[in-house]
Amino acid sequence: MMKAIRALTFDLDNTLWETDVSILRAEDAMARHLRSLTPTKWMANFNLEAFHAIRKEVVQEQPKIAHNLTIVRKETLKRWFENRGATKAVAEDLANEGFQIFYEERQNVTPYPGTVATLAQLYKNFKLAAITNGNADLMAMQIGRYFQFSLQSQHFPKPKPAPVMFEEALKRLKVDPHECIHVGDDIEHDVIGARQVGMKTVWFNTHSYIPEGINLADFVITDLRELLLLLKQHG
Ligand SMILES: [Mg+2]
Repeated sequence: MMKAIRALTFDLDNTLWETDVSILRAEDAMARHLRSLTPTKWMANFNLEAFHAIRKEVVQEQPKIAHNLTIVRKETLKRWFENRGATKAVAEDLANEGFQIFYEERQNVTPYPGTVATLAQLYKNFKLAAITNGNADLMAMQIGRYFQFSLQSQHFPKPKPAPVMFEEALKRLKVDPHECIHVGDDIEHDVIGARQVGMKTVWFNTHSYIPEGINLADFVITDLRELLLLLKQHG
């Protein structure tokens, strides 16, 4: 069955690296920067909880932007400052600047142990690509060199688990669904999504529990290095 495998697609956040750490650091840097630019009272009550509450409001009002985390973040910042009395223009400038700081810091990720070596090995025998619902800029990172391309949901009408990004990846990799394994940590977005278009699936279990529905994946790994063995055993 695995003999036919010619390509692998990877989720990014919490699959190649742990995201929470880099996001928190990025949000912290963003807040610090915005504090340095604005009147004290504008950022006085700024904390993650308050920021996320506004974000929830924004997404509820504009569900169509939910899959574009760049726009969501900018719109949230804009509203934050407008709520504090900034003009639309000022709020927009601050949102853009805040986002830039966040975005740069957010790319500063540390791959899980063994990830780089595994990709370096896989890349010799398989075509590799990434499919993310986040805004990590993989191709600008060191490990981007192992990938042919990275698809971000912000450039598509719908995020994973919708078929559109998987289908585009298969088309660009020039492989049939059954020739491609998708690897990801999210049962719904990655396993169910990829399975729906006929791809093989590897669930990267970063949790210490096995949720219901895990039998949906063809394989389960807890360390990316297991992929090498898995492909060898079945290839
Ligand atoms: Mg993920």
